[in-house]
Amino acid sequence: MKTNDQLTGLLTVVGVVALLLILGACQSNTNRTAATSNRPNVLFIMSDDHTSQAVSAYGGPLATVCPTPHIDRIAKGGMLFRNCFVTNSICTPSRSAIFTGQYAHRNGVYKFTALDQTQPTLPKVLQDAGYHTALIGKYHLHSNPIGLDFYSLLPGQGRYHNPQFIEVGDIHSSGWLAQGKRTEYSGHSSDVIADKVVDYLQQRNALDQTFMLFCHFKAPHDTWEYAERYESFLADTEIPEPPNLLDDYEGRSDALRTQLQYIGSEWGNHTNFEEETAHLTGVAKKRMQYQLYMKKYLRCVKGVDDNVGRILDFLDESGLSENTIVIYTGDQGFYLGEHGMYDKRFMYEEGLRMPFLVRWPGQVQSGSESDGMILNVDFAPTILAAVGAPALPEAQGKSFLPLLNGRIPRDWRTSMYYRYYYSHFKTEPHIGVRTYRHKLIHYNRIDQWELYDLEKDRSEMKNLYGAPAYAAITKELQSELVRLQKELGDDPADDGSRPNIGNLAPQPLFKSQDISLADTDNSLLFRLRTEEGGTLFSRCSIDEVPYSEGFTRDGFKTLCLRQNKLYFFDGFDGDLAHEIDVDLSDGQWHTVALIVEEKIPKIYVDNLLVFTGTEALKADHPSHTFNVGAGIDTGGYRGYNFRGDISHVYYRRGIVEQQDLKDFKTRKINDGKYLIAASSF
Ligand code: CA
Repeated sequence: MKTNDQLTGLLTVVGVVALLLILGACQSNTNRTAATSNRPNVLFIMSDDHTSQAVSAYGGPLATVCPTPHIDRIAKGGMLFRNCFVTNSICTPSRSAIFTGQYAHRNGVYKFTALDQTQPTLPKVLQDAGYHTALIGKYHLHSNPIGLDFYSLLPGQGRYHNPQFIEVGDIHSSGWLAQGKRTEYSGHSSDVIADKVVDYLQQRNALDQTFMLFCHFKAPHDTWEYAERYESFLADTEIPEPPNLLDDYEGRSDALRTQLQYIGSEWGNHTNFEEETAHLTGVAKKRMQYQLYMKKYLRCVKGVDDNVGRILDFLDESGLSENTIVIYTGDQGFYLGEHGMYDKRFMYEEGLRMPFLVRWPGQVQSGSESDGMILNVDFAPTILAAVGAPALPEAQGKSFLPLLNGRIPRDWRTSMYYRYYYSHFKTEPHIGVRTYRHKLIHYNRIDQWELYDLEKDRSEMKNLYGAPAYAAITKELQSELVRLQKELGDDPADDGSRPNIGNLAPQPLFKSQDISLADTDNSLLFRLRTEEGGTLFSRCSIDEVPYSEGFTRDGFKTLCLRQNKLYFFDGFDGDLAHEIDVDLSDGQWHTVALIVEEKIPKIYVDNLLVFTGTEALKADHPSHTFNVGAGIDTGGYRGYNFRGDISHVYYRRGIVEQQDLKDFKTRKINDGKYLIAASSF
């Protein structure tokens, strides 16, 4: 779409949007292969934990130490946002907010829980609108992707060196992506991700397919393992310290004093550098820890920037630049020594602010800037509006398309709502409101408040809460906090301990902690009928919130039916699956028996022995429950529940001999501890 130079920026944007909306409307009931006119491609580049203090387009003391010329190219050719904020400063919640346009209390992802992707998401809407949708790199949403035509994902946090990827189509036969086949690539993750991105762009260009690609770098997330070629980068450079590196937290709430994300903290051993700083103590030690931390972090940033350069070069060379919206952001802010900290979570400026740079040739003026307050929940509504796709029906964010001409509309937001829920690092949960000038933070669990005047105190060192001169503004901000809470539908009592993960959490037919398959001799018998399959039993932590860490993987056991095969898992990893080639998904009644004798499992189907284990079962985890008819929820994979009828479940602490198995049908075995009545799922 060519711009008419005579139009003002505003008219251009409005006109283009109107035209695109018309085009979009013409394509409802879309034939996805239909030509989609000149709609722009979208390349959304997001790094993990890359904060604006380390993007040179934002200026600051690090801009000359570790310039990011390639990322800055996006701002030079487009617009830089100075006030882009995250609504909950950690990875999975921010990524979920970006996918759904909703706050955590709406999309259900408060912490490291699975995103229920049956709800409307940005990739799903774009896919329906005819876009080829793809994600390459860090994913971290814990549930199987829906709405992506192509993906190549780092499992979990992924590896920095020689990373493994789960490629599209490599979902495990259990139906669970996280257990899918992993393909290893040699090299550094930033380089491999950029290679994959360039390959993807080449293919789309050759096929002339309009696309939205999420390019998600793993770097510069801890543990900051950089590519070898950056070993000497900054080796002889003294990294400038932020003025509040040695913050003593005087006058602030207890939250800063009790957190474990200070530089030198033993939590996670990320920034203590014991060996290198063993000869130092006190302030000298902290300063050295800061230097070592920053060099690792910035070397990772340099790797990202160089690879962004390669990607932008390819866009230029291929001619794709002209019709591609390029966005660069990080999934939240990050502390680079401010308040003596690293990591994110806290609502102070450096953790709250996301870098956001956008280039859209012909639509956004080169080298422009906006102070307009935008949020991560606005990204999806904006992208959808920009390409003329239908809006996300329940998005809480707003399209900031009108801000892309450099003006802030009169009715644009002047305050934003923030909420962090307790997870780890001993960072206190908090709720806050930020306006253009002030910030009010309520550490709600310890009921302590902080107030900052950002015009006078940009580094947030002077807590003005309780200062008489600020009584009126405090009251105003407290009302604004309540107003935003109401507007967004957040209940202050909802502490995030009951994540809404839709149908992801299975409901077992029967649940007990008393059954441990590996403890003694056991017999477990089922009568079942199904055409679809699912999980017969699982021994795992059904009731646990599926955190990415803390899940007790040992002694996980499950028996499930997938794709006309029976699987028995002893352990978490896919390679511990025993695959049994018997078709039980024929809609007929079958009997399945699992007999464990001296820890060796045997499986019978309709009284015939189909599997004998070759090694002893691993010990069951004592915190796990034994669940009938429900599967694991840790990966957030929906559909793990058994689908069909289970008429009888019989358990005996002891052996049922093969010749007696047939009596199960006629209920002659009656000395079991449990006999569960008929039920269906
Ligand atoms: Ca992150």
